[in-house]
Amino acid sequence: MEKEKKRQISLQRADELKGRIEDFLEARKSISTGISKEDVLKERKNRILHIYSATEEDWNDYKWQLKNRITDVESLSRILPVSEKEKQLIQEVGEKFRWAVSPYYLSLADPDDSFDPIRLMSVPNYKELEDSCTDLDPMAEEYTNPAGCITRRYPDRLIINVTNECAMYCRHCQRRRNIGEQDVHNSRDKILESIQYIRENEEIRDVLITGGEMRSLCQISSWNGLSAS
Ligand code: SF4
Repeated sequence: MEKEKKRQISLQRADELKGRIEDFLEARKSISTGISKEDVLKERKNRILHIYSATEEDWNDYKWQLKNRITDVESLSRILPVSEKEKQLIQEVGEKFRWAVSPYYLSLADPDDSFDPIRLMSVPNYKELEDSCTDLDPMAEEYTNPAGCITRRYPDRLIINVTNECAMYCRHCQRRRNIGEQDVHNSRDKILESIQYIRENEEIRDVLITGGEMRSLCQISSWNGLSAS
């Protein structure tokens, strides 16, 4: 087929693909981004820093963020408006499922929108108590742990769960069974067993170190004599 004809087919195909996401392209116009809200976010950050009598340096320190995670309704209500009814529901959900959210993450939530996606992702919701949400292992990961603290659900990739400590406990977390009430880091032996498993299974080409984001990186790199940055 001549080059020009191929190009015509390609352009037609590209148009078809674009047509399939027209609804998203329309909705996207009303989705705000962090960049467009820079001033608003700065103001929220400063308000939280004032509440905590903290500095910009504290804000940029992940240890400060972890140490100051919001874990109770009274602290939450200093940052976001929370009705009495909601306080009661958060407490009820919190008795069953641990929750915590870092000041930074909470600063991203719009205080005037009770359906703000960040708020929905981080603040306990009464729907978590519905039967369909109470399964602690919805992906049956307990059956995908061939060694150490690995979860292997795909042919060529896996995760190493280094710790259960997360800066925020996402309300949609599929690993709630690990979160419990205490921060627990997996032992060096378990990590080494996981690494050995990867050595012995050469088809693994992608490893995600997870459970705690920055904390995972710091922990594993300190064991390997690397510096976490
Ligand atoms: S393990 Fe991942 S999804 Fe679950 S709470 Fe931690 S960061 Fe969120």
